[in-house]
Amino acid sequence: MLVSAKEMLEKAKAGHYAVGQFNINNLEWTKSILQTAQEMNSPVILGVSEGAGKYMTGFKTVAAMVKAMIEEMNITVPVALHLDHGTYDGCYKCIEAGFSSIMFDGSHYPIDENVAKTKELVEVCREKGISLEAEVGSIGGEEDGVVGMGECADPKECKMIADLGVDMLAAGIGNIHGKYPANWQGLSFETLDAIQQLTGAMPLVLHGGTGIPADMIKKAIDLGVSKINVNTECQLAFAEATRKYIEEGKDQQGKGYDPRKLLAPGAEAIKETVREKIELFGSANKA
Ligand SMILES: [Zn+2]
Repeated sequence: MLVSAKEMLEKAKAGHYAVGQFNINNLEWTKSILQTAQEMNSPVILGVSEGAGKYMTGFKTVAAMVKAMIEEMNITVPVALHLDHGTYDGCYKCIEAGFSSIMFDGSHYPIDENVAKTKELVEVCREKGISLEAEVGSIGGEEDGVVGMGECADPKECKMIADLGVDMLAAGIGNIHGKYPANWQGLSFETLDAIQQLTGAMPLVLHGGTGIPADMIKKAIDLGVSKINVNTECQLAFAEATRKYIEEGKDQQGKGYDPRKLLAPGAEAIKETVREKIELFGSANKA
């Protein structure tokens, strides 16, 4: 059964650890993440971007697959199925498809429109027991080949959005999506601290978890981050393991071309990445 992310994140915030959101792309991804979370007795959030949803033929397919896998694999740890960076329409599609958590990314709207749409979704989600994440400011990343440095959100705007009744808040603190540039300045703990002071018990979300040094992750958790999104790192681990298998010619030995063999090293690499993150975030044995 899927659960909302609300309770697991409130527990995480109170217990000073973070729950990982690991984005899924297909069956292998989902299976690896669920298996690892279960082995480590950790709550977990499966993230689905709109692009990944489309790739998997639609949000209904995703929800049906995840629910069935939880049952067939006897998964007993709390699992939330979460829309990552949802558009307004995408949010409604996921609510209808049976997701247990959504992120409405209204950061590109003028603040008034972001507030109005977020308010509306707060009502809908509350009625259905779905958790809702909002974003303030924008979390940068590579756009048209240019990697931004990562903006910092305005703490007062964060407080205003938090007060609308969302369950978790993503705010830019110098973090970006994808790989970090060599001259990256690091996270702004000053901004994070100011946001946390104004938003109190609200679980804060750190996007772009790939490549942030472990000590910065730990400090961010100390300052109120209770959900950390990991996406690129699993992709890099999968690609590297798959490339090694093919470069070693293993796909040409025996039945090494069998997709169940060909994709196995990548799936193992995802598990290893998820295991490391669960250790670092401190969510093992918190299910
Ligand atoms: Zn993000």
